[in-house]
Amino acid sequence: MQNKPVIPFATLLKTMMVVSAPSLLVLVFFAAAGVLDFNYFFYGYLIVIAMSSVFVLPFLSNISALTHYVEDLSLDKRVQAPNLSVLSNVGELSGSLSRLQRSWENKRQEMETVITEREILVDTLPDILIMTNDDKMIVRTNRAARSIFGQNLAHRHLREIIPSEKLMNAITAVIEDLRGQQVEFHLAGDVPRDFHAIIERFPIPSEGGISIVITLTDITQQKHIQSMRADFVANASHEIRTPLASIIGFIETLQGPAKDDPAARDEFLRVMGEQAGRMSKLINDLLSLSKIEMNAHTSPTAKVDLLRIIRSEKQHFEWVAKQKNVTLRMKLNDNLPPTRGDDEELGQVIQNLIGNAIKYTGSDTEVVITARLTSSLPSDNNFRSLTRAICFSVQDEGEGIAKEHIPRLTERFYRVDTARTRKVGGTGLGLAIVKHVLNRHHGSLVIESEVGKGSVFSVYLPVYDDVAPAGAEVKKDKA
Ligand code: ADP
Repeated sequence: MQNKPVIPFATLLKTMMVVSAPSLLVLVFFAAAGVLDFNYFFYGYLIVIAMSSVFVLPFLSNISALTHYVEDLSLDKRVQAPNLSVLSNVGELSGSLSRLQRSWENKRQEMETVITEREILVDTLPDILIMTNDDKMIVRTNRAARSIFGQNLAHRHLREIIPSEKLMNAITAVIEDLRGQQVEFHLAGDVPRDFHAIIERFPIPSEGGISIVITLTDITQQKHIQSMRADFVANASHEIRTPLASIIGFIETLQGPAKDDPAARDEFLRVMGEQAGRMSKLINDLLSLSKIEMNAHTSPTAKVDLLRIIRSEKQHFEWVAKQKNVTLRMKLNDNLPPTRGDDEELGQVIQNLIGNAIKYTGSDTEVVITARLTSSLPSDNNFRSLTRAICFSVQDEGEGIAKEHIPRLTERFYRVDTARTRKVGGTGLGLAIVKHVLNRHHGSLVIESEVGKGSVFSVYLPVYDDVAPAGAEVKKDKA
């Protein structure tokens, strides 16, 4: 409903004076000529005023309604075109007004659609977008920016949310130099992050200023992988260089000072054999690791009898165990169901765990190898929807491992005591291989250890029937 327009009294008075002016002049003329006495002049003028108001009032009310309508439109208010009963007869004013109203509505809707579409587009971009003015005050952000740096970012200084001098300097350079810039920076904090930033400036003619648009890509993961790769290459080169340097040294000695010393020659050849063996084991482990990593994203599908592999691996270690007088005791559940996996890779897991137990335990001790079906599962995502798992564990009575080392044991080349490990022929890659194989098999490794008492390394694997090969429907566990 539209409010009835109110006509200001002054406007009404002025209009009436103007409209009645010609009649007043005629009356004055007749009065001056003596044809009209004062009483008739007065009543005549009242009649003129009354008659004029009958015509003038509807016009004034329509004009007032039109004024209000145009004012409302200029204030972007949604209003109905007024019903101009008198003015519409004068030309096509009424039709023009409704056309104006319709086109105004359409324009407004088009603008709203464009704005909404752009907001959706910017919000769904995975990159972080931040727009600032030339004082580095934040003007707009997208959803990715808000999810990382928090809500209500507008009107805050960029430095408050991204305290990076590198980024601030790059933005200053863009404001002064007019050219875009790219920069990488690190943000310390509870969750340290690395970002790659693209900074560009855009003029905004309506405000006579400029906008700075900063696009950020989170490169934390990429940086981490890069540094891991660099560390890995450095470590692998170092591990190979050490035995190689020793072999080269012995060759030089054998060619020179020890040329005619058969006793020294025998001893040097024995050590060279050992070092060559160490290099060969290292290269084999590196190749295994790279092969497992290459297949990391394809889950194995074959039915594997773990007991058969355990028995066969145990036989391989019998001689080594005997040398140290270590007893290998087996506690195997003969009804163990099969697991879904890769024979060779699971063989490597069992080999590494039994091998480590013998390597790091003292003489005259016992290593217990267990395989059973269990319903106490590790708190691992792989077992969230399962009710049972195959558990293979190797328990030794060695020195044990201090708590702070346990989470790092599966890192490549990580050793608790490097010198000791080298002496027993360790490469520092065995548990990294175990971890990668288990990742591929959707399994889990749990390490429990107590210094002075020994360690238990337990491997959990899903039962063959409880998991489906990649792409197939998962069969419900009925156990
Ligand atoms: P390595 O070839 O050196 O044994 P691993 O990756 O198999 O490499 O093991 C990493 C480190 O974990 C070893 O260097 C050793 O310090 C420690 N470790 C592994 N197994 C045992 C164990 N059963 N008892 C004590 N320490 C162990």
